[in-house]
Formats: sequence, C-alpha cells, structure tokens
Amino acid sequence: MAKYKLEYIWLDGYTPVANLRGKSLIKEFSSFPTLEELPLWGFDGSSTRQAEGHSSDCVLKPVAVYPDTTKKNGVIVLCEVMHPDGTPHSTNGRATIHDEAGTWFGFEQEYFLYKDGVPLGFPPGGGYPPPQGKYYTGVGYENVGDIAREIVETHLDLCLDAGINHEGINAEVAKGQWEFQIFGKGSKKAADEMWVARYLLIRLCEKYKVTVNLHCKPLGDTDWNGSGMHANFSTDYLRTVGGKEYFEALMAAFDKYKNEHIAVYGPDNHLRLTGLHETQSIDKFNYGVANRGASIRVPHSFVNNGYKGYLEDRRPNSQGDPYLIASRILQTINTVPKP
Ligand code: ADP
Ligand code: MN
Ligand code: MN
Ligand code: MN
Repeated sequence: MAKYKLEYIWLDGYTPVANLRGKSLIKEFSSFPTLEELPLWGFDGSSTRQAEGHSSDCVLKPVAVYPDTTKKNGVIVLCEVMHPDGTPHSTNGRATIHDEAGTWFGFEQEYFLYKDGVPLGFPPGGGYPPPQGKYYTGVGYENVGDIAREIVETHLDLCLDAGINHEGINAEVAKGQWEFQIFGKGSKKAADEMWVARYLLIRLCEKYKVTVNLHCKPLGDTDWNGSGMHANFSTDYLRTVGGKEYFEALMAAFDKYKNEHIAVYGPDNHLRLTGLHETQSIDKFNYGVANRGASIRVPHSFVNNGYKGYLEDRRPNSQGDPYLIASRILQTINTVPKP
C-alpha cells in the first residue's frame, strides 16, 4: 500500500469565466487508483459562488484521473460539481455535453505569459518591444526571452506524463504569446484534457511569478494580436459520409445559431473578432476554404476528400470554456438531419 496525494480539481461558479480550484485528499491504494476507486468528495460552495451559506455543500464527482509527476504518488482527479441529490450543478458545463464516442475535438489554446503586469519580454515600466513580425515561431532571446521556453517545454512534459494528448506548441504572433494544441476522441475528452492542461500550466507558473493571461485581447485596441482557442471538430458522419449537401446544411445551422455560439465562445470577444488580425467580425458568420479570416475555416483536404473530414471554428476565444464550446457545437450539429 502507498499513500497517494489526490488533487481534486473543479471549476468554480465565477462568471463570466470560471476559475480552477483544487484541494488534496490523502488516501492509501495498492497501486495507482482507477476512477472507480475514487470516492465522491465535497467542498464549501459558499466560498466558490456555487452555494448560499445556509446550504453550502457541493459534491465533487471524479470523472477522470491523471498522474501528476511533480509529486511522489501524485494524482489529479478531474471532477464535475454536483448537488447532494446527485443532479449536476448549474455551473457544471461538462454535464451538458452530449456523450458521443465518434465526435472528436482539437483545441488550439493561445495565451500570454505575464510578469509584473505586462507580457513576458515587454519593458516592465511601460512601452513596447519591437512590433510583431519575428515572434511567431521565433528563436532567440530577443524574440522569446529567457524563461518562456523553459515554461512551455516543462508544461509539455507534465501534460505528456499525465497522459494528455498534447499535440504541439508554437510561439505566437505577439511577444510573450504562445499556443498549444490538444486533441481528443470522444465528445468530452479534449475539453477535459484542456482544463487539466490549463491547470498544470497555471500551477507551474506559480514558481516563476508568472501569470497565465487567457484574456482574448489583453493589449486592447492595438496592433498586438489577441488570443483564440480555435475549435476543430468532426463527427463520425462528417469523417465517413459528409458531402456537399450535408456540409451546406451544417453551415446554415451554424449561421442560424451564431448568437448562441458567440454567447459561449468566451467574454469580450467583440474586442478580438473585429475582422482584422485573421478574424471575422463578431456579428457575421461565414466559412471559407483555407480562409483564416472566416468564422469557420474549411481545410483544403475537406473539399478534396468530397466534403469529408474536420472543420475549424475560429471564433472561440482563449478564455472560453471548452466544455461549453464543445456542448454548443454538438448541439448545433445535432439539429441538422443527415440526408
Ligand atoms: P492551425 O494553426 O493551422 O489552425 P493546428 O495544427 O494548430 O492548425 O491545429 C489543428 C487542430 O486540428 C489540431 O488540434 C488537431 O488535433 C485538430 N484536428 C485534426 N484532425 C481533426 C479531426 N478529424 N477532428 C477534430 N480535430 C482535428
Ligand atoms: Mn494553431
Ligand atoms: Mn495560433
Ligand atoms: Mn487554428
């Protein structure tokens, strides 16, 4: 038997953006615990905006488990928040995702690393570094600074150790801005892993006195890029049958529900979806082959394969909740009859 350190993590009730929360439970197991072996736990919801003080118990229901190699016998236990009667809490976005094994998502998380209130590499007292140009996929101290690469590479290792399907990293267009991608098969998997990857990154940065800034336009109305979280998606039907007629019906549904999509694609998105910096305006919906100025980009391969494959919704922003994004995309897809 060994004592395992179980870090139960969940999303709190703050709006418009939920925060990650976590607390540790020490428990003995003969080997690394399986999901089925992990008990329900609870927390004081009145301290996380999830309950009133007079009836404050919320339940943590484990839904996925990951090794945490920063600790001896470390375990991350991703949880859904439930009411004591076993029904999902209103802040539980994961519970709203239709469970479909054949639906796959790939999220591209862009973010800024901030230190002392400015992006890493910006002059601390104010002002700006040289304009955008050489930072995207850049090399060299003048482009990426000194500690950013150590942070993003360490984060990659932590994700891989945890079994997360991390697919890659790139330095982004603005100084201090980075991206990583996570892909998952099954409608909840990539979103689960995105939340755990965010948790690992935010926690890793503590010791560097660095903050992960997920705001979609942290530098405001300037010539500095904002951050997105492009959502790439495919269903079993889209990958194996597809077809132009179905694709056009699907895009008509995305157009019809554009406001419902924007509502869960992250706050302040009007600052980012301006029609500039490789975006479409927030109030318009369009799609285009290989068009990075479209709401939905259709990869060349999709058209070449007879309208089969995956699509990229470019509107979700870096602060969006991948649970709500996946849930909405699937809801819209499921309004479209298959010919
Ligand atoms: P870009 O920056 O050109 O938009 P990336 O390589 O950063 O492209 O991201 C592409 C994403 O598409 C990855 O997250 C990948 O996992 C995802 N993806 C690829 N194939 C599929 C698929 N069939 N279904 C869903 N997502 C997919
Ligand atoms: Mn990308
Ligand atoms: Mn990008
Ligand atoms: Mn993309």
